[in-house]
Amino acid sequence: MARILVCCAWPYANGPLHVGHVTGSLLPADIFARFNRMVGNEIVMVSGSDMHGAPITVSADKAKVPPETIANKYHEMHSKAIKDLGIKFDLYTNTHTKNHEQVTQDIFLRLLEKGHLDRKSTPQFYCENCKRFLPDRYVEGKCPHCGYERARGDQCDNCGNDLNAPELIDARCQICGSTPVLRETEHFFIRLSQFERGLTEYVEGNKHWRPHVKAFTLNVLKEGLQDRAITRDISWGVPVPVKGFEQKRIYVWFDAVIGYLSATKEWAQLRGQPDDWEKFWKDPVCKSYYFLGKDNIVFHTIIWPAMLMGYGGLNLPYDVPANQYMVIEGQKFSKSMGVSIDIPDLLTRFKPDVLRYYLAANMPELKDSEFTWQDFSQRTNSELVAIYGNFLHRALSFTYKNFGEIPPRGELDERDRQSLARISAAADGVKSSLSACEFRKSLKAVMDLAQFGNQYFDSVAPWSLVGTDKARCGTVLNVSLEICKALAVLAFPFLPFSSESVWKQLSMPGTVESAGWNALSMPLTEGAKLEKPVPQFAKVEVSGEGGEFQQFSALNLKVGKVLDIQPHPNAEKLYLMKVDIGRTITMISGLKQFYSPEDLKAKTLIIVTNLEPATIRGVKSEGMLLAAEEGDTLALLTPEKDLPAGTQVASGMEPGTRTVPFKEFQKLEMRAVRPVPGDPGMLDIGSRKVKAASASPVPDGRYAAFVLGDRAMIIQGPENVKITFDRDIPAGAKIR
Ligand SMILES: [Zn+2]
Ligand SMILES: [Zn+2]
Repeated sequence: MARILVCCAWPYANGPLHVGHVTGSLLPADIFARFNRMVGNEIVMVSGSDMHGAPITVSADKAKVPPETIANKYHEMHSKAIKDLGIKFDLYTNTHTKNHEQVTQDIFLRLLEKGHLDRKSTPQFYCENCKRFLPDRYVEGKCPHCGYERARGDQCDNCGNDLNAPELIDARCQICGSTPVLRETEHFFIRLSQFERGLTEYVEGNKHWRPHVKAFTLNVLKEGLQDRAITRDISWGVPVPVKGFEQKRIYVWFDAVIGYLSATKEWAQLRGQPDDWEKFWKDPVCKSYYFLGKDNIVFHTIIWPAMLMGYGGLNLPYDVPANQYMVIEGQKFSKSMGVSIDIPDLLTRFKPDVLRYYLAANMPELKDSEFTWQDFSQRTNSELVAIYGNFLHRALSFTYKNFGEIPPRGELDERDRQSLARISAAADGVKSSLSACEFRKSLKAVMDLAQFGNQYFDSVAPWSLVGTDKARCGTVLNVSLEICKALAVLAFPFLPFSSESVWKQLSMPGTVESAGWNALSMPLTEGAKLEKPVPQFAKVEVSGEGGEFQQFSALNLKVGKVLDIQPHPNAEKLYLMKVDIGRTITMISGLKQFYSPEDLKAKTLIIVTNLEPATIRGVKSEGMLLAAEEGDTLALLTPEKDLPAGTQVASGMEPGTRTVPFKEFQKLEMRAVRPVPGDPGMLDIGSRKVKAASASPVPDGRYAAFVLGDRAMIIQGPENVKITFDRDIPAGAKIR
């Protein structure tokens, strides 16, 4: 029996969980922990919501609520989604607890005492108007690398470069817009360079790590480690336990990794054995596994190990089987860009095991994988339903109909014996690949066994035996049910809900979970009554989910803010406009008869930014604004909530990168739509009602939508901000 600590990256409490979190860390951690519990290992699996940091205070400022309100709201949502998805933690807590604060401060003070922390003064932006320092997200300016106007103090969302706030050109305060000044401020830094040699030896010694994790880490170490600030000027987070630092907090990345330790301590306290955490952190026999996405590797293979080395006496990570990304239609999931598929929404539409199946079968273990709705429905229907669910249901329902109970096993022939041997072989395969964190491979072995079950069932043809040799028919069904039972056990780490349901249908005592791996050798109870079996999985229909709207992704739509309007020098009916779309462009528009220049001043528009540029009366137009027209009424498209200039409006699709000819644009149908009251699945497009591509209810109003035959998809920007109109316009009005 081994002892294992399963650590799962802490989801950030600033937005709902999405499929990236699940396939990247939650699900692999859960599969691994379930398997290890089954084989009798002593497991503790911990994680929680990461409650601190500037993104949460920014959201809180925007919503005019305290940061706790935002963090608690998402912590509760995370906890519920995790439970509903069957992710079984020993403790899912959060970083805003007294216990976590104490553990974090203890680590901080020990590192300070042992000379691993440095006090340094650095220049930081300070807003004299707001009278506060401006940590990363509180300052914006022009990116020094790509010229993007709205780069943040820590990162440019356009080119992806990490930034130091003082590098920003024309920096401005995010809160009040005024120009900040640089002011010296004192912070603690962790001297990572002290750990370079120890870390290199540690990483090189870990022969069992995934090659991409190891190579990436060694590369970072080879480039040399910079000291890193671990405190900052912010009021939300763990207080710095040093005199004179009362106004500062410990940096969120530093406190979040400590969560693994503090959560294990909390778990031990909650079960009334406060010292039990030591078995998982101090006893070198215990192996700790960390499940996370690749953007988190450095924190778990360098920074956290350095902190642990500095602290002393605690186990370093044994393995960090980091996953790559799951990309959606070619775009990396990024909460800050608002492109995600949220778990709470998905759980209202699909069984948890259906999501778990697809996200495990398509897990980005060694390279990026892609989430597309088409692939989701195809794999669910052709694998989970057609192979796995089908075998279980045909074996169980045929037995139920013809015997009503588990039939006795008579004499076995060669084929039967081979089948039973096939079960043992599958079990060995699943066990060895799950022990090695090879999740896709082990799920494949489970599915192969189900496929084998179908072949066996076809070859023994119980339907032709039932009338001629009922005893032999009972024997082959008994063997078939033996395969069903093995599937329930082997699939349990992946599909816990359906495994338990199959177990019950087989009239087995207790649960798979309690029986564990030994369930494989528990005999079927011959003569036990069967209840009428129900199919485990049904086909999913998602043909309308984005996939068919892909043709609209050719367009690159952005939020534009009008900077300036002039009459066109050579055309009476036209305006010449300067519009900020993250950069300034010149546009020609025919709005003169509908809008005065004053009406348009500072207006927020939706611009097609990648049409073939048109030259109109000698002036080149670099973009086209979108408007809906019906009779004499014209209404401009505008986001329902203010979005910064340059924001991508792509409805979760990857926006177009090539130039689109005007002819192609004209073929795309866009209209103003109105949700049909009382029927969230339908949209009114004037002449008729069409199906909404997403069933999420939308409040009454007029929205811009892509239309394709009998379906329509409401156009959205980040965080589901919909696009509406600046004037009343009837449903059905054409957008051009
Ligand atoms: Zn940039
Ligand atoms: Zn300010």
